[in-house]
Parts: sequence; C-alpha cells; structure tokens
Amino acid sequence: MRITADGESDAGVAATTIQMSAPSDAGSHEDMEHRSAAISIKTLKGVGPRVAERLARLGIRTLEDLLFYLPMRYEDRTRVTPIGALRAGSMAVIQGRVELTEIKYGRRRMLLSRLSDGTGFITLRFFHFNARQQESLHRGVQLRCYAEVRRGRSGLEMVHPEYKRIESDAPLAVEETLTPIYSTTEGVHQLTLRNLTRQALERLQNDQLRLSDWLPDYKLDDHPLPALKEALLYLHRPPPDVPLEVLAEGKHVMQQRLIFEELLAHTLSLRQLRSRMRKHKAFVLPAEGRLSQRFLQTLGFKLTAAQQRVIGEIAADLQRPEPMQRLVQGDVGSGKTVVALMAVLRAVEGGFQAAVMAPTEILAEQHFRNFHSWLAPLDIEVVWLSGKLKTAERKKALQSIGNGNARVVVGTHALFQQEVRFWQLALVVVDEQHRFGVHQRLALREKGIHNDHYPHQLIMTATPIPRTLSMAVYADLDTSIIDELPPGRKPIETVVIPDNRRDEVVARVHRACQAGKQAYWVCTLIDESEALQCQAAEETAAVLAEALADVRVGLVHGRMKSEAKEQIMQQFKQGELDLLVATTVIEVGVDVPNASLMIIENAERLGLAQLHQLRGRVGRGSLDSVCVLMYHGHLSKQARERLGVMRESNDGFRIASKDLELRGPGEVLGTRQTGQLQLRVADLQRDQHLLPEVLRCADTLLRRDKEAVAGLIARWVGQGTRYGDV
Ligand code: ADP
Ligand code: MG
Repeated sequence: MRITADGESDAGVAATTIQMSAPSDAGSHEDMEHRSAAISIKTLKGVGPRVAERLARLGIRTLEDLLFYLPMRYEDRTRVTPIGALRAGSMAVIQGRVELTEIKYGRRRMLLSRLSDGTGFITLRFFHFNARQQESLHRGVQLRCYAEVRRGRSGLEMVHPEYKRIESDAPLAVEETLTPIYSTTEGVHQLTLRNLTRQALERLQNDQLRLSDWLPDYKLDDHPLPALKEALLYLHRPPPDVPLEVLAEGKHVMQQRLIFEELLAHTLSLRQLRSRMRKHKAFVLPAEGRLSQRFLQTLGFKLTAAQQRVIGEIAADLQRPEPMQRLVQGDVGSGKTVVALMAVLRAVEGGFQAAVMAPTEILAEQHFRNFHSWLAPLDIEVVWLSGKLKTAERKKALQSIGNGNARVVVGTHALFQQEVRFWQLALVVVDEQHRFGVHQRLALREKGIHNDHYPHQLIMTATPIPRTLSMAVYADLDTSIIDELPPGRKPIETVVIPDNRRDEVVARVHRACQAGKQAYWVCTLIDESEALQCQAAEETAAVLAEALADVRVGLVHGRMKSEAKEQIMQQFKQGELDLLVATTVIEVGVDVPNASLMIIENAERLGLAQLHQLRGRVGRGSLDSVCVLMYHGHLSKQARERLGVMRESNDGFRIASKDLELRGPGEVLGTRQTGQLQLRVADLQRDQHLLPEVLRCADTLLRRDKEAVAGLIARWVGQGTRYGDV
C-alpha cells in the first residue's frame, strides 16, 4: 500500500473526530430505512459496480457488513518522529524535504530519494517505480512517510514507504487516531476500506445510521459492556493513547464487547439448529431387546461402567420420537465401537436400518469386519460400501441397501453419494467426527429422511475437548463421555530418540518380533505429497525386510488397492506378519491387540492429536507396550514440548488440552478446514473465559428475545445459518 503524491489520499480520514458519547438506540427498531443492515454499500461515495462486486467477495454488501468488517491490526501514526531520533526496527512517521532523487543501477534498478528534516538524513528506497513517481519526488518536495526504519549500507532507510506529498506551508496535521489496517485479500485497496469505513462511521456517529444493539446494558462480571455503537466507532479508529499491544492481544473491553457478541451469535445459531432438529420426527427405537442380550452374552468381555452409562444415554434418546443428536467423546481405546454397535442393534431390533460411516477406507473396512463378525451369528446382514467397489459389487450393495435386506451398512463417505437410497434408515453413526465437516454430517442425515422421519445421529470422537468449549462448539449436540478405559490396560511407555540411533531401534524391533510380539513402523512425511510418503514407506519396508531376515514384514499405504490393503491388515491381525510398515493411513481406529511396539518416524513433525491417535494403535491388549518417537535433527521448542507431553502422559484429555494450548481450537477441532466455526474477532482459545457467560446469555435470549436471536445470527453467522435449514 502506498499513498502516491497524486493518488487517493486519506488525509482527513482520521481527522474526523469521533466522540464516544453515542447514546444507545436500543428499542428503536422501527425506522428501517436507517438500519445499517438494510442499507446497501452502494450508497457510499466511491462504490461503483466494480468495487461493490469486490466488496461482496469480502462478504460486504450492506453498511452493517462494512461496520463489522473490523481492522486486523493497527498502526500508530499519531506522531512525527524527528529523523535524528529514529531507531532501526521501529515503525515511524517522518516528515522531511527531498534533497536528491536518483535512479541507481546495481544488481537491480532502483529509485533512491534522500530526505532530510534538519535533524538527520534518511534514504527512501523503491524497487518498483515509474517516471511519474520519480518526477514527483524532485528536490525540494515535502514528504510525509510511514514505514519500518531499517539500517542500510549508508545509514537509515525506508523501503517502499507509504508516503504523501504535503504543501510546505500546511500545518503539521497528523493522524488523530491509530490507523486501522484491514485485510485486503480480494483486491479492495486499503485506502478504499479506510475511506468507506470513514463514511459509514460518520453516518453512525451522527445517527443517520442505526445499528441494532441486541445487548443493551449487558453486564459482564458486573461491568457494563460498552454499547455496540461505541465499540465499533472505537475499534475502527482507536484513540492514540491505547497501547497497540492491548489491541493486538484482543484484550480491550471494546474488543471483548464484539467478541462476546460473536461467540454468542455462533452459539445461538448452533442451538437453533438443534432445536429445529428437535421439531423433526424420528423413529422410536425399542429399549434393549433379545438381540442385544444375545450379543452381550457372546461378547468376550464385560462392558465398563462408562460404556454402560453412555449406552443408557443413547438408548434413552432413541426411545424419543425426535432425532438423537449425540456426540460421544472417548479416549483412544476406550471402546467406542461396542457402544456404537449397541445403538445399531436397537435400530435393527426396531425393524430399521443403521449406517456406520468412517473417515478412511482402512477404518471403515475394520468396522465392517467387526460388525460382520458380531452380527452374522445374529443373522443380521451387514453390507460394505466404499467408493472403490467394482461396479457389480456396488450394484449388489446398493440393491440390498435399497430393499432393506442389508440392515447394517458400513462404509466411507461413499454412503452419502447420490445413488445411495436407503430403505428405512433410523440411525447414522459417524466415527471420528473431526474428520468430517458439519455439512457432510448434515448431508447424511438428509439422505436418511423417510416419510418425514429423520435418522438418529450418533457421532463419535477421540478428540476430547473441555466441557465449556464443547458446549459452544458442539452446541447443536448432546454430549456423552466414556471416561474410563477397559480394565487391564497398561500405560504405554513412550521414549523419544534421535534418528541417528536408528540401529538401536531396529534391534529393538528385532528382539520384540523374535519374542512373538508384533510391531508397527510408521513413516511420516508431513507437507510432502502422498506419493512421497508412500515411497518412503516402501523404501523403509524394503530396508527393514533386508536387515531383519527372520521377521515377516508387511506394508500398507494409501496408494495401494483396497483389496491389497485389506489383505495385509488381515494378515497382520492374524499374526501372519510380525512387522507392519505403514503410512499414517493406520492413524485412526486400527485395532490389533497383539501389537505392542510402535515406531513413529519424524515424530517431531506431527501434532499431538495425531501422535496420540497413532500411539493408540498399541496398548490395546494386556501386553506391556512401547512407543518410540524418532525425531530428525534439531528439535524446535514447540516440538520438544509436544514430544515431552507424549512421554509424560497417556491421558487423551490432558493431551487434548495441551494441544489446544499449543495449536488453538480451530486446528484441533478441524473447524478451520470444515468451515464449521469461522470466527471473525473471537478466538476460542484466547476467549474461552467468556464462554460460561456466553452460554448463560444464550439461554436467556432464546427464552426471551427471538428478535435478538435472529438479528445476532444474521449479523455474525449470516449465510452459515443455511445449514440450519438442511
Ligand atoms: P476406540 O474407542 O478407540 O474406538 P475400540 O472400540 O476400538 O476403541 O476398542 C479398543 C479395544 O478394546 C477393542 O479391541 C475392543 O474389543 C476392546 N474393548 C472394548 N470394550 C472393552 C471392555 N469393556 N473390556 C475389554 N475390552 C474392551
Ligand atoms: Mg474407534
């Protein structure tokens, strides 16, 4: 961004004095023609069709959209620093007279301007410039510049400063507020945004423009929240005395006002989604029947108390005539599959179908085998559906799904493709939910609608998150927690080793396999292509097979055909292979209880959640298990911290809260990718402390103020609410 001498200038933008004495206009909902939400952005000067279209790409169509398009940061241009007092590394506004401007031909052609203000000299350096610009910087011209001060070869300099010409006799007006910096990704110029927000703020200021303040007089910790109008005026043009750090940290009370409102709006939209779902009908499924009893008798173990409790919670939901929407959180290995199976049995006992969806082929395949072996003795047909089925098999599968012969369908996201038609789907189980977006989940529910009846939904995740956070992020779901592992599980010993001690690790694998144990060797290459990852696994498998002649080595990776993958997994499960070399395809759900040693290469590159998932492949039986985290080269501080957490803890909840701390909820919950919760000003990690009050406030508004609920959702979530209508 640059202010050219003859271009658009935002002098005066900041000079608009904005007083902070705005009266709240709560309650005056009538005069719609002045409501910010109803006024097009095109009413502002400088917004033609082209600019309007670009603004639309930023989601800005109305003046309200614009007012809620907040600066991402601020710069302090409220003081002019004498050149003699500049320090390298700081951002500064300077003002001086051009002494000399010349083009220099070095390795690159550049324009250099020498500026002096009587206290010192500085060089302005431009790599991109044109003749007009060169001309405008002639000797004697007065400039005001803003940029970072750097130390160059011949003293201090500014590279591509933002600058403007000033008339020498003009008074020394500087910016009277901090300068807002807006995100300008869609080709809308910074100065355009500053100019447009200035116009909108002026109208807001003198009450030509009215905002609906849905939280008038709201108190947070006994302190009244500032009025919305006041907060917006402030945040678009903060006064010069606010420390930039406070704003950068999002801690200012004016920011908290908007953060609170945004978190509230998202919570409300999820809660609304949930109550809309509750108005739908669902098939009532019977309490535990004969099949469940027979199944429990043949099961080789006793359910844990936690499993029984959660099964009970699910059963209660299923007996209601409205669709269940329940999330089951349970650490890796806590036994979620059996819990899902008990729900599936209810659907079958009721005379309906159930579908189980898993995020990867390998996991879906494994669920299929488990469900098949559990259900075949009960004469229940389980069908497998993945995108990789051959045409004939696929046709057969679709047929039995359509005519109801298949009571249980297990598969990948292929389950919600167009051609799949269910006969009478009463239950959908989604395993490892963080890998599916909310939209996929809703699409699957949509598919199952039968005579106005929606399928019940059971969602299972091994990414446990703290309760308040979960209440906000999953406000559309009820939650159950399996907070107990099956008995006899021993903690996995975890060691962290540099990969220059690889030989020792190989010897350890050798000893384990000779002793009749099984091991995984996981090859990871994050940020590289899948092809490279598979290649690395292939090479590793070859090297290990050669080094360990008496060890039976198998290989699975994502580029293998599903039959080949499946065959290897079966061989490993049946003990026909000792060592399984794999890519991260085995990350979720794979269950081979006899495997007790896991080697993870390049562990420093993986996140905590992924490491915990991978490590969870061992320690599933009664054997003492070991996980070796091998790392390459020097460890960064964060990587060391992650590996340290893994070494010290086996507890999924602890690891998850550490993960939240290190990476933040957007990454941990996968909401970044799925677009489930796209927050503008709030940050779930930083602003967690607001959540209890947000939840309380949401309750109150849902009971008392429908208009506020609708208004807040429209303002902050907007289009996103559309999935509420699915
Ligand atoms: P996850 O919660 O990670 O999906 P699984 O459902 O795969 O866990 O269960 C892990 C292993 O524990 C499986 O081998 C399963 O058969 C076994 N298991 C589940 N519940 C119990 C229990 N109550 N007692 C003993 N073993 C159990
Ligand atoms: Mg599982």
